[in-house]
Amino acid sequence: VVRETLKMMPLPRPKSTVKLSHPDRLYWPDAGVTKEGLADYYADVWQRMSPFIVNRPLALVRCPDGVAEQCFFQKHVWKGLSHLVRRAHDPEDRSGEPLIVVDDLDGLIELVQAGALEIHPWGSTTAALEQPDMIVMDLDPAENVPWDAVVSAAEEVRDRFSAVGLTSFVKTSGGKGLHVACALKPRARWGEVKAFTKRVAEAMASDSPGRFVAKVTKARRKGKIFVDYLRNGRGATAIAPYSTRARPGAAVSMPLAWEELSGGAGPSYFTVNNALIRLSHLASDPWSDFWLPARPLPTLLGQRGRSD
Ligand code: ATP
Ligand code: MN
Ligand code: MN
Repeated sequence: VVRETLKMMPLPRPKSTVKLSHPDRLYWPDAGVTKEGLADYYADVWQRMSPFIVNRPLALVRCPDGVAEQCFFQKHVWKGLSHLVRRAHDPEDRSGEPLIVVDDLDGLIELVQAGALEIHPWGSTTAALEQPDMIVMDLDPAENVPWDAVVSAAEEVRDRFSAVGLTSFVKTSGGKGLHVACALKPRARWGEVKAFTKRVAEAMASDSPGRFVAKVTKARRKGKIFVDYLRNGRGATAIAPYSTRARPGAAVSMPLAWEELSGGAGPSYFTVNNALIRLSHLASDPWSDFWLPARPLPTLLGQRGRSD
């Protein structure tokens, strides 16, 4: 079925020259997704995904033996990593270890080869490391928060951004929540961008204290949604659009149109196994114009951004 629907896809599938070792290794045994299956998936979504991962430092969740075995978070290159993966220097990184950057599909497939099951880009590119070109607001519902409430939270973030001139886009996290993202002209620095998103999160929490919290403290989150603005600090990352998750089910972080939110598909509904069918049925890609409305960080409530 998946092979058939590929023919309807308007976007070409690029070819990777990377030769996989153990292509039949099961990365998601429960979902039947192999290393080769993951590489094929990324080739299929490459045209859509690449603007969000190319030229950005990447953090990874690596599970070399699949999601049922040990996984680890990795921000730096390692010995033996292919040179199809670029290295970038972070002047503020005390470890002195280079960051991980990919330029093309081959780079991403080398990461697949190394068991990278989650791709978490920075919100800035290596061309302007200190000036983010996107914002991500991560909505983290506590246990028992109904999905409707998460959808309303995303819409409220959208409306608050829209009120200051930012056009936002929504995606499932592939885990428990939703991410609302918007493009910025890379002018303001990390401290100002983080301060801006913090003010939005705090305004939501103070206007609806029964629904939202803007503080990390877990104890205060019961029954509420944590409006996690902390993805917007220097060196912080968020899961990439179309990235898989290193959890059972092979869920992916799927870009949605705002109208789709009420359709009932939850945060981990889309997976490696159904993503291409969804994409082939789309009249237009909901995130294809993501970068078009990019504008400089607005000043909010008349305040100037701080540089903390
Ligand atoms: P959910 O919808 O379940 O909240 P999510 O992608 O929003 O999914 P997490 O998977 O908890 O949330 O990851 C949030 C961020 O925390 C990631 O983007 C990553 O930057 C960071 N992170 C995740 N795992 C680690 C780790 N082991 N060490 C350090 N940072 C991590
Ligand atoms: Mn989250
Ligand atoms: Mn979070």
